[in-house]
Formats: sequence, C-alpha cells, structure tokens
Amino acid sequence: MTEFLSRTASADLVTLRLELHRRPELSSEERETAARIATELERCHPDELLQQLGTHGVAAVFNSGIEGPTVLFRCELDALPITEISTFGWRSEIDGKGHLCGHDGHMAILCGLAQELAVNRPARGRVVLLFQPAEETGAGAADVIADPRFERIRPDFAFALHNLPGLPLGAVGVRPGPFTFASEGLAIRLSGRTSHAAQPEAGLSPAVVMGQLMAGLPALPETLGHTPGHSLVTLSHARLGEAAFGISPGEADVWVTIRAINDSLQADLMREAEKLARQLAEADGLAVEFGHHENFVAGHNDEEAVSRIEAAAEALGAKRVEVGDPFRWSEDFGRFGSVAKTGLFVLGSGEEHPRLHNPDFDFPDELIGPGIAMFEWITRDICGGQARD
Ligand SMILES: [Zn+2]
Ligand SMILES: [Zn+2]
Repeated sequence: MTEFLSRTASADLVTLRLELHRRPELSSEERETAARIATELERCHPDELLQQLGTHGVAAVFNSGIEGPTVLFRCELDALPITEISTFGWRSEIDGKGHLCGHDGHMAILCGLAQELAVNRPARGRVVLLFQPAEETGAGAADVIADPRFERIRPDFAFALHNLPGLPLGAVGVRPGPFTFASEGLAIRLSGRTSHAAQPEAGLSPAVVMGQLMAGLPALPETLGHTPGHSLVTLSHARLGEAAFGISPGEADVWVTIRAINDSLQADLMREAEKLARQLAEADGLAVEFGHHENFVAGHNDEEAVSRIEAAAEALGAKRVEVGDPFRWSEDFGRFGSVAKTGLFVLGSGEEHPRLHNPDFDFPDELIGPGIAMFEWITRDICGGQARD
C-alpha cells in the first residue's frame, strides 16, 4: 500500500491537473479542455492523434507496428454544473462549473501514461488513450463509438478507473460481472387546465395525480416484487403550476431517475413507471407526456479484463477492497462493453474525502502516480514493452 502510494507524479502532471481544474467545461462543451489535452499529447509523439471524435473526444494512438491486441484506456473531459466552494488557489475560475468528479485527475493519469509510452512504446499491438467527452450526461461514449473514425481505434480491451471517496486512499476495488447500474431520467408532464383559485372546479388540477406519482413511483420496485437492491426509482424534481395564489394549477412535472442492475430490468421498470403514470393520468382525465434523458447502460466487467486489473494491483502492492454488490451509480463506460472486453475499477480517494459531485470535492493528486502505474502495468501485460521499474 505504502509502496503503491509512494509513486508520486511528476510536478508537471500535477500542474496540468490544477490547470484543468481551474477551467472546467460542461458535457459536450469541452473545446478548450480538448485543445489543451491535444497539445499535451502532441508532445508525446503518438503515431496518430484523432480529434473531434464524437464531438470533442481526443484519442492518441501508440502503435508498435507489430501485430497484437488494441488496448484502450479511457478518461473523461467534462466537469459539472456545480459551484465549487473550496478556497484553494486552483479553484474553478468559471462560475457555476467545477471539476467535482475528478475527471481532471483522470486526464492527468492518461497524460502520464502517454509520457511513459512516448519513452517506451508498446512491443506489440496498439495502445489508444481516449479522452472522452460528455460522460456526465451519458452521451459521450455513445457519440465516440458512433463516430465513423472509431473503427480505426476499435479496441480488443478497454479499461478505465474512477476515483471513489469513502474507500481508503489508493485502494483498488473491482469485480467481474455487473459493476455499475443502468439508469435513465424520466420526465413526466401532466396537463389539465388552469382556473381561478376561487373556482378550482372549473379547471383540472394535476395535484392529486402528482402526489400519487410521487408516492407510487419510488415504491415501484417493491410493488413489482423486484429483488431488493436490484432496482431503484428516485424522485429528483417536481413542480406544480406556478408560484401564485390566484391560480389553480393546470400543469405538473414529476422527474424520476430509474436505476437497475441490468438493462432488461431497467427497461421493465421504465415501462411500469410509464404505465402507472398513464393509468393515473387517464383516470383523472389528464394528458401525460414523457421525456427520456441521460441514458446509461449497465456496466459489465469482463472476466479476463478484471484478472489483468487484479494482477496489476497485486504486483504493485495496492490495497484491495471488496466490491460485494455492483455500484448503484452509472458510468457511460458501460457502452464500451458492446465493442470490447471492458474493465472498470475504482481507486479509493480516502475514507473521509468529500464525495463525488459535492461542492467541496477535489481530486487527490496522490492518486496520479498509482493510477499511471496501474494502467502501465496492464499495458505491459498485454502489449509488452519496457516498464518504468
Ligand atoms: Zn460524475
Ligand atoms: Zn465521473
């Protein structure tokens, strides 16, 4: 553990991380970040550098020129629409935006790997370093895969890591099989008719149905008899009419996030949620409309990919943490499961560290060195070439 964490990153990588942290950009708007990363990668002389992949994605290819597998390592370019409250010198310079998921750190790790590959290229096959846009909205991985140029970098293996507060600093957590939940936002709009608040009977208020949905939707997994812990409906937003005393409302919005351990359970739960909303709305004569947002497929870890991650953790002396159940959060890295053998692992950010997406979160720089070491070990395991030590 100590040995693993003693792998400190070079000062220029930490400087890069802080620089990225100061200039956060939201999903699908990562122009400046992508340009900064491309400059950094050009210094490492990749054999090919692809830009504007599926919007703003950047991919550096290190090609041995000798037949062998293609291994892709993926990190994320985007930040969050959250105001950072930290006061350190590298806090976000952009109001209302912050690197509060640690994607700045993940980018520094892949840039560090690029520096290693610049010096010691793979002995066989190819290594692709992918800086993916729009992870937070679930759009980026799908956009990159849909880009016709993705065929040129289509991998046999794809790996990623995510830092995770709540776990000991530098601890590695991984498991084969289901790893992250599928999720999708469902926006329900109920429409009736507004009226004067003195004559509510002349209108058609969605208030009662809204209340029924707010209670009924989160209870759906239990109502449907789903295995406890395998699915979840979370109420995320609700609005009834306007903020006025003189009007009986004619419209309501109820937003929920629907999550499940696999894609088919997710699809079932989505269907049942819409069915419930339709039934309740029709019974009261209301119109109902649905909007679907931020769709993430479930993440599934390939057994062989996991064994490579485990071997790296073992060889580097990393502390291990048990991942009993799959994580309830979603990661759009799951999309790569349709094109490659995928392995996603978590790297502990410290037990007491502020949580991801919290306004005081900051990526721990102590993880940059260990992150590079994990990815480089996997690179050498699959594609050979001289390791750092
Ligand atoms: Zn995030
Ligand atoms: Zn993230």
